[in-house]
Amino acid sequence: MKVPDTPENMEICKQFCGPCQTFRENKLMDVEPHALFCARGPTKKADCVSKGCNCPECEISKKYGLTGGWFCLHPPKEE
Ligand code: SF4
Ligand code: SF4
Repeated sequence: MKVPDTPENMEICKQFCGPCQTFRENKLMDVEPHALFCARGPTKKADCVSKGCNCPECEISKKYGLTGGWFCLHPPKEE
């Protein structure tokens, strides 16, 4: 099931992507789609450095059975 792009899910994402070092160091908020990558797709920012990922702990990841994390860099695999 696809993750819905809703304000409620964005609030949850902020709690997990927000403090992530990959998010902060690459300034992903400045580039589309900003956040909620599991719903919106990967960042358009090129040459991101990977510094860890909080997606596996995120309740959206658990609710929708997403695996792998790093959704700012590549989309979740379809079930
Ligand atoms: S799974 Fe990752 S990208 Fe999706 S809402 Fe959670 S922290 Fe954000
Ligand atoms: S998708 Fe994962 S790696 Fe990317 S910013 Fe969010 S928590 Fe960090």
